[in-house]
Amino acid sequence: MPRFTRAIYPGSFDPPTNGHLDMISRGIRIFDELIVAVLQNPDKNPLFSLEERMEMLREIAAPMGNVRVEAFDGLLAEYAARREAAVILRGIRAISDYEYELQMALMNRKLFPQVETVFMTAAESYSYISSRLVKEVYLLGGSIRELVPEVVQRRLKAKLRL
Ligand code: ADP
Repeated sequence: MPRFTRAIYPGSFDPPTNGHLDMISRGIRIFDELIVAVLQNPDKNPLFSLEERMEMLREIAAPMGNVRVEAFDGLLAEYAARREAAVILRGIRAISDYEYELQMALMNRKLFPQVETVFMTAAESYSYISSRLVKEVYLLGGSIRELVPEVVQRRLKAKLRL
């Protein structure tokens, strides 16, 4: 029987960027199903609520086939195991991402050895994009047109009314 591989792509997505979009569209070419798992992180004080982040991601992922958007909290590896996902997908933009990601991957393996972390390198053209910088640039009046999908531009505008 052919094997079905489900991957979880977790993050805060506050807000989703073109970097995330690129990861999702490349991820779905490799795995049979991709669950974009949005972290419910009230203590990080997100700009967008969990529901808003999920709505934006659903709109972005709608044309992409086997992508689902879900919320999660608690232990990521436990959630992945519960959803019977074989893979946690993470993006690496620079060496600075790597140290933290490596530590997290090793901890997750310690907790749930059946779930494998897979790293994908960011596309060069998006490797400088982060949700934090997008928010900063927008708040300071800079153009974010090439950094985020249209739905995110609209939502940022509506939320911050600059
Ligand atoms: P977290 O707070 O968990 O890092 P993010 O929403 O910032 O959540 O990122 C989710 C995932 O997407 C992470 O694996 C991150 O490395 C990756 N990522 C973020 N921006 C980019 C980008 N521009 N290119 C590729 N991957 C990215």
